[in-house]
Amino acid sequence: MTRFIKWWFPLAAAVVLAVAALAGQGPDAPAESPAAEPVLVIDAGHGGADGGALAADGTEESDINLDIALRLQALAAFWGERTVMTRSDASIDYPGEADTISAKKIADQHARVGLVNSTPGAVLVSIHQNKYPAASPHGIQVFYGAVPGSEELAKLAQANLTGQLCPENRRVAAPIDSSVYLMKNARCAAILVECGFLSNPDDLGKLQTEPYRLKLAAVLLASYLQYTRGTIT
Ligand SMILES: [Zn+2]
Repeated sequence: MTRFIKWWFPLAAAVVLAVAALAGQGPDAPAESPAAEPVLVIDAGHGGADGGALAADGTEESDINLDIALRLQALAAFWGERTVMTRSDASIDYPGEADTISAKKIADQHARVGLVNSTPGAVLVSIHQNKYPAASPHGIQVFYGAVPGSEELAKLAQANLTGQLCPENRRVAAPIDSSVYLMKNARCAAILVECGFLSNPDDLGKLQTEPYRLKLAAVLLASYLQYTRGTIT
């Protein structure tokens, strides 16, 4: 925790407050009902034997995902929110019988689903980076699962991320493709955030800076606070 308490905490706090205030949901507002205590489950996409998308300069998606996830965890803890991480490290402990990359990926995805579905009150935020064969596509897009609440959280996050980080962005929240195992099998409100395109030089440049990754984390936390404090019953 201590390594996160740096100059940027006041900035992050200001971003969270600003976004929460925009929606009229202060971070100290009580939940409508305490029946379901929410837990922010933070999923840093890929990791271990699976680096995810690879930028032309060698930047691995899994590393950017983890950095944003750790910042989100630190900010959430700072705010007194309960969190669970699907991974907190670049490496992943695979079961001994998983001896191929494919088997390791499958075992890892099963483990993540098991963790999410065994966490009461879970709200899943899965962090990823996009990539496209052409360099021009750019921007942030939030996808949502089928469980009620997912679409609402996705639309909140999409509006906040666009408004705070890329006002020119025309992408809208959309249902997740059914091939994404974790999102398909999570039995809770769940969103997957594609924070930018590693194939776009401007997006990649921003994602490689600490302040931008911090802002992403802060806006995601603010969106989670708006969602949980406004709609959890
Ligand atoms: Zn990914």
